[in-house]
Amino acid sequence: MHKIILLFLMSFILLFCSQKDSKTNADSEVLDVAAKERIRSQVEKLDTNQNISVDFITGHFDPSKDSSFVLIPDKYSDRHGMYMKKEAFNAFKKMYDAAKEDNINLVVRSATRNFDYQKGIWERKWKGEAKLSNGENAMTAYEDENARALKILEYSSMPGTSRHHWGTDIDLNNFNNEWFESGEGLALFTWLENNAEKFGFCRPYTTLDKSRPFGYNEEKWHWSYTPLSDVYTSYASKYLKNKDIHGFAGSAVASKIDVVSKYVLGINQNCNH
Ligand SMILES: [Zn+2]
Repeated sequence: MHKIILLFLMSFILLFCSQKDSKTNADSEVLDVAAKERIRSQVEKLDTNQNISVDFITGHFDPSKDSSFVLIPDKYSDRHGMYMKKEAFNAFKKMYDAAKEDNINLVVRSATRNFDYQKGIWERKWKGEAKLSNGENAMTAYEDENARALKILEYSSMPGTSRHHWGTDIDLNNFNNEWFESGEGLALFTWLENNAEKFGFCRPYTTLDKSRPFGYNEEKWHWSYTPLSDVYTSYASKYLKNKDIHGFAGSAVASKIDVVSKYVLGINQNCNH
């Protein structure tokens, strides 16, 4: 008799759990449909002249030979030879002028970096030829390839996965978060936090927390022109696969750490409208 009651109870629990599961699945399906619709409409918004493709998203092009890019005049940057997408640079110029009126001097420290450029940065760190930002030699300090990649990924992208490939993202003024926390740096950061959005710029690498659980550490210097980069992010979420990330030392790790979901898409969600 006890067995019958027990069986009855177990069936009831099982039935209850399966109903709960199917409700959760239905909810996530609704979300998926909404997300897919958002991606579809964003990809449709693309100007076909932009030639968006996985090759573009992974930085396999030369910005100096692409007419949709423009050379940044020296007065806006700390060195010659950097490029941005024309539309993104035009927006930056407006932001630069508005900042200047408020005695804020924006300086572009890095802009478009294609696959080959990023490969150089990554491999120098991977092979220990360049030190990590904490002074460590990644090659000797992290023999395990997964651990080494995750350490480099705190601040540097794998070639093929950087938003700097897109011509929409720039690093401003200083590469230390601390610089933005007092004096001139704090004034500049506060100005950007209050005004960048009006010009289309957003900060993708905010603090890692519950709302942004994966990706690079916080970067107070990195800003993204979202009218274009939103579309590229959506394109990446739909078409870019871990298997597309190859052609450099350590690339075998890309799939193991799910670099596309965790890093390419691990951004401040307020930047992806
Ligand atoms: Zn950056």
